[in-house]
Amino acid sequence: MNIVIMSRNSNLYSTRRLKEAAEERGHQVRIVDPLTCYMNINMTSPSIHVKGVELPKFDAVIPRIGASITFYGTAVLRQFEMMGVKPLNESVAITRSRDKLRSLQLLSRKNIGLPITGFANKPMNIPDLIDMVGGAPCVIKLLEGTQGIGVVLAETRKAAESVIEAFMGLKANIMVQEYISEAGGADIRCFVIGDKVIAAMKRQALAGEFRSNLHRGGSASIVKLTPEERSTAVRAAKTMGLNVAGVDILRSMHGPLVMEVNSSPGLEGIETATGINVAEKIITFLESDKASKSTKTKGTG
Ligand code: ADP
Ligand code: MG
Repeated sequence: MNIVIMSRNSNLYSTRRLKEAAEERGHQVRIVDPLTCYMNINMTSPSIHVKGVELPKFDAVIPRIGASITFYGTAVLRQFEMMGVKPLNESVAITRSRDKLRSLQLLSRKNIGLPITGFANKPMNIPDLIDMVGGAPCVIKLLEGTQGIGVVLAETRKAAESVIEAFMGLKANIMVQEYISEAGGADIRCFVIGDKVIAAMKRQALAGEFRSNLHRGGSASIVKLTPEERSTAVRAAKTMGLNVAGVDILRSMHGPLVMEVNSSPGLEGIETATGINVAEKIITFLESDKASKSTKTKGTG
């Protein structure tokens, strides 16, 4: 196949590994920075140009779209879809998963376990918002945060009120969530491809910290999943319409709770922790007809 990887930087671990794995399996690979693409919107012959040259016809596209370029990146991906190029993950599914509130609403509609979550714009009654999630301690999250920045544990009701007021004062969008203390500062990253979890790791926060993000000093190790955790992760990815997803789960007293579903999960942490060749599994999936069969929208969503 002729494969295009959409990525801002060809030196990133995930981008490099996907290119390597595809070439090892005999495919041609080109890496394109989506921000350098410009396009015509034309029903009969949509095309994409880079630096004055039209891109050739590709068979498949692997989007690696960072959160900061979701808007333009998904537009470029949509153009590839309109040109009949098979996407690893569809543009609609990526857009859907980038909206945290929409994601949680979709997941809850499918009865997937979630931490009790409240959100508000101008609550007028902050104590009631805190009561909605069961009172303190609770977790307050900035909607646009990543890598654990903007995630605060409020141990008391007073602290929760002050943090919410402060974020509101900054006009930030926030979410208030029940604190799952029994997770013990750990979460589980399930790497889903198609209808399987092909690798999983447990991330454990540093002592005294509740956020397990590797960027916050967390450490990763292999973990054995329960059948319920596996099926929860697969159902979460399916609900979002993602073929490939990183599903983050908290282990609670009431079973697995999904925290977020990531549409461009990184490969470095998971390949290092598990020794599994995740990149190759992604390419083999892309070769199979499962990838194309699950493409329903062809850029129409
Ligand atoms: P980010 O998108 O910035 O990674 P997350 O929502 O994933 O934010 O939260 C970061 C980390 O904080 C999680 O990996 C988890 O370890 C911890 N955490 C988040 N929400 C909760 C919660 N409701 N209860 C317990 N721990 C949580
Ligand atoms: Mg996270």
